[in-house]
Amino acid sequence: MNILIIGAGGFIGSHLSERILKDHKNWRVTGIDISSKKIEQILGEKNFEFIKADIMKDLDLVEERVKACDVVFPLAAVANPKVYVDDPLRVFELDFEANLRIVRWAVKYKKRLIFPSTSEVYGMCEDEEFDEETSNCVTGPICKQRWIYSCCKQLLDRVIYAYGIRDGLRYTLFRPFNWYGPRLDDIDNPNPGSSRVYTQFMSAIKHGKDIQLVDGGDQIRCFTPISEGIDALMKILENEDKADKRIFNIGNPDNMMSIKELAYKLLEEAKYDPTRREMADRVRVVSVKSSEYYGEGYQDVKRRVPRARAAPQLLL
Ligand code: NAD
Repeated sequence: MNILIIGAGGFIGSHLSERILKDHKNWRVTGIDISSKKIEQILGEKNFEFIKADIMKDLDLVEERVKACDVVFPLAAVANPKVYVDDPLRVFELDFEANLRIVRWAVKYKKRLIFPSTSEVYGMCEDEEFDEETSNCVTGPICKQRWIYSCCKQLLDRVIYAYGIRDGLRYTLFRPFNWYGPRLDDIDNPNPGSSRVYTQFMSAIKHGKDIQLVDGGDQIRCFTPISEGIDALMKILENEDKADKRIFNIGNPDNMMSIKELAYKLLEEAKYDPTRREMADRVRVVSVKSSEYYGEGYQDVKRRVPRARAAPQLLL
């Protein structure tokens, strides 16, 4: 199988590329990204080809590569709340417009598409657990710019679903719920507000800085180790018959905790580690208003828990 991973240099793309090369010695992976920093360890592998390209500019090249593959994972996107608020058009242009082109090439060349939706599409849905088939997608007013990411992803989900019905596009949508692990973001350069919460907290602990809880940190999330996320993606990849035209939440409802609990848990663990204790002892946990941290265009999601009824781990 020839697998094209666009955004192969990112958090999910780097782990997915590694795992495919490890588990399937006769499959080929082509990775496209503007950066290869996180995949230097696989650059020399015989079944891996890296192409440095920008999906906003190198359209002919990307189209050719979609045409040449069997399956495409379009993983390149902005996935940071600070950018949703500060630069929503960048999110629209990359996450929506550039990805829509890739979706259309997958339709044109009849390729299988495995597309990253997001737990954010459920927005402020009040269900205890979000269900792929029945939960509503609830977003806020237009002035709350943070919803642009959720809307871009939701509209692409709807477009892909419609191509599945009209043109027989073979697709699977997956919705990661707060995946974490090595290479998530740069822990030494976390850019306040613009890397993901796990990185923010680990970075604060490493450097002896305050952990900032947005609006008190009562928000409930389900954290999922990247290894479990990749297990699920491999099941999807290996079982097209069972995964076709389906949407999967990929998260662990048993791993639910508040952001505040996460902060104290990480801090406590660091204090047990002699190499990190000194820095960890300097850390204070403080609350900061979301409007100060992210800007006025932010609005929070109080609770985000998946119903994992259809999780791909259960497919086999
Ligand atoms: P990431 O930011 O780590 O990786 C994205 C990659 O895309 C980066 O390597 C970046 O260099 C590349 N990229 C950006 N612009 C590009 C361009 N113009 N041309 C080519 N490459 C470009 O993100 P991730 O965590 O790996 O997420 C992958 C996908 O999964 C995204 O669509 C994201 O929205 C979705 N997602 C992730 C999570 C999560 O928990 N990590 C949750 C929900 C959804």
